[in-house]
Amino acid sequence: MRLAVLSDIHANLAALDAVRADLPTVDEVWVLGDIVGYGPRPNEVIAALQAMGARSVLGNHDGAAIRLVDPSDFNPDAHAAISWTADALDDNARAYLASLPEVRRDGALTAVHGSPRDPIWEYIVSTAVAAANWAAFDTRLCLFGHTHLPIVFAATADGDAHAVAGLPGETVAIDEGRALINPGSVGQPRDGNPAAAYLILDLTEGAAEFRRVRYDVAATQRQMLDAGLPPRLAERLSYGR
Ligand code: ZN
Repeated sequence: MRLAVLSDIHANLAALDAVRADLPTVDEVWVLGDIVGYGPRPNEVIAALQAMGARSVLGNHDGAAIRLVDPSDFNPDAHAAISWTADALDDNARAYLASLPEVRRDGALTAVHGSPRDPIWEYIVSTAVAAANWAAFDTRLCLFGHTHLPIVFAATADGDAHAVAGLPGETVAIDEGRALINPGSVGQPRDGNPAAAYLILDLTEGAAEFRRVRYDVAATQRQMLDAGLPPRLAERLSYGR
């Protein structure tokens, strides 16, 4: 059983297209929310995910774009982008986002955007926050996004967590014990590497392979500026920040 795990696509169609072209054969595609927000092609990204049969959860930007989540905590650029997105969404995209669960559970896997105990908002940024979440899900593995940083938090025998960075091209063993796994961001990486990030999760082998794919960043930036989205959001894609 092999899954592709994508998160934080943020309406970046050029990045998603590059990931789709790079994808090996997989049994399922899981998407960890923030499908829209920041980027210029929300409807096209949602249509692509529908065509892939993706199994998605709701992110804070997705909820805000359909007024399900209060965006008052968003910074001014994120807020401007969400207002633009809310206006840009077509009926199909709006209905798709409205259909997404906050938590998806299937077999050995739980999937959330933020964290198991606060699926929309909590950032799992430290071993302490990871450890505080072990009790909030009952599967062996949990997939999460939201921080845009590829990482595995593995449970230790004493109930704590230890972090393993998801470095480009590296495979992390997840064959034993519990783990929280973040594939990084397809559409707005923040680890200093502008290439789109995603994960291949081999549940049979117990392996998480962190992949990076270069995409046409300039094409997305042009689309953003043409749409009137904040220039700073376009600029950051060049640096992966
Ligand atoms: Zn995000």
